[in-house]
Amino acid sequence: MTSGTNDYPSAWAQTSALDARRALRVVPPTAEVDLAAAERAAGELMRALGLDTTTTGLQRTPQRVARAYAELFSAREFELTTFPNEEGYDELVLARRIPVRSVCEHHLLPFVGVAHVGYLPGSRILGLSKLARIVEHFACRPQVQERLTVQVADWLADHLEPKGVGVVIEAEHSCMTVRGAQARGADTVTSAVRGVLRDDARSRQEFFALADRAGAH
Ligand code: ZN
Repeated sequence: MTSGTNDYPSAWAQTSALDARRALRVVPPTAEVDLAAAERAAGELMRALGLDTTTTGLQRTPQRVARAYAELFSAREFELTTFPNEEGYDELVLARRIPVRSVCEHHLLPFVGVAHVGYLPGSRILGLSKLARIVEHFACRPQVQERLTVQVADWLADHLEPKGVGVVIEAEHSCMTVRGAQARGADTVTSAVRGVLRDDARSRQEFFALADRAGAH
């Protein structure tokens, strides 16, 4: 942990005197997980719901529930490395169908789907796998899909300073499919565009056409 509870380290760590490679250590928000307390609380919740936690099947469930949620809320730390855009690549870079796994903040039930994350490079480019890590960074916490989409877009706009950013997320919410409306198979699509992808109709169209094709396979 290099930045304590700071979710957005403000300065790039300079790893080279020539500034050829800039790296930013991205540290998830640090919350101490008290597994024992979570386990007790999970047991209490189950008993309050009329479940008998002494049966062989349910005996160890409070412990499993505590661990499962701890895992869902723990993003991995990673290093975000950017490189100078030496060849002046100025077309859309798009990573499609990045897996998304998050938990809705209203019911603490999972929502899962895919994200399409693209950017129009400015002076720096990014290791492609890092787009998936940024999605994970914001997904590993109680979320609403709209906010997750905006956070990924804004984070990239702030840290990469590209000419444009576009994010589309398609996800199925279990709070909608297994309870409530029980709308099985329904998914929710959200999008956020920044810079040229918001302001220029042709770029925006290109982004959504590519992202849409990914969604439809
Ligand atoms: Zn929900």
